Amino acid sequence: MPFERRNFKVPELPEVETIRLGLQKYAIGHKIEDIEIRLPKMFQGDPKDIVGAKVTAARRFGKGLVIDLDNGYSLAIHVKLTGQLIYRDEQTKNIEVSKAKVGTVPNNFTHVVFVLDKNAKLYYNDQRRFGWIKVVPTDKVSELSYFKGIGPEPQLKGMPDVSGVSEVSKGKLTFEKFKARVSISHLKIKPHLMDQKKIGGIGNIYANDALFLAGIDPRRKGHSLSEEELKKLYKAIHTVMEKGFKYGGASELTFVNVLGQEGEYQRHSLVYGKKRKPCPNCGEEIKKIFLGGRGTFFCETCQK
Ligand SMILES: [Zn+2]
Repeated sequence: MPFERRNFKVPELPEVETIRLGLQKYAIGHKIEDIEIRLPKMFQGDPKDIVGAKVTAARRFGKGLVIDLDNGYSLAIHVKLTGQLIYRDEQTKNIEVSKAKVGTVPNNFTHVVFVLDKNAKLYYNDQRRFGWIKVVPTDKVSELSYFKGIGPEPQLKGMPDVSGVSEVSKGKLTFEKFKARVSISHLKIKPHLMDQKKIGGIGNIYANDALFLAGIDPRRKGHSLSEEELKKLYKAIHTVMEKGFKYGGASELTFVNVLGQEGEYQRHSLVYGKKRKPCPNCGEEIKKIFLGGRGTFFCETCQK
């Protein structure tokens, strides 16, 4: 499996939201009857705090997930590069999982199993083992350093209102907040977009495509963007991520939804992953360079 760097940051907001939606649909209402921890480092906290509790909500902050329970505790989860949450019950057990991304359930990469009531299970798989699951009191979720540090995030159509989550992250990325952050930045625009402390939820795939859609060279410095360019880019970020969400996310590495199925965005990306392919706009060859250690795809003709 090709990894460019250890800090490869997928899944992104549309993928994590796709997982969250699945948890909301399938996990809510289930009681956790037992937990099987196969790899202790993946699970932090006392299983006793959550066994017997019922799932009441599934929330997302940036690329982080929170499963709330009815006893005052929550599970904070970050799937990082290759984490998967896969739900199986009597109704869903025969749904075919992605052969390439999952194979079988459970498998050698299944590190934690939540045994739920009504014969259901929630599996946490993670090939690269960078993800984490933490048991925390619900009212302390906002104190986890990951959640505290997330910048404001794009509000995408069809997703829950993020403006009310300011107690954890910095709420919704309005154009004013976007402009205030980018217009003083001496960072190159692409790494800036991907810095989770500045803006929550954007990773490599959508940063590449948003810059292409806005016609902006990824090597430009934030402060060099005009008001018009900032507006175009702000709009483009939302457009590409909404498209990503519509296609169920991008299954670039091991991303799958809670039923173990792949997303489709990678088949609809604009420039991401298209080195030497023709630009969808002008037909010139798409270039690949590295910016901040990350593969950067762009068209020199269309992006200025
Ligand atoms: Zn072009």
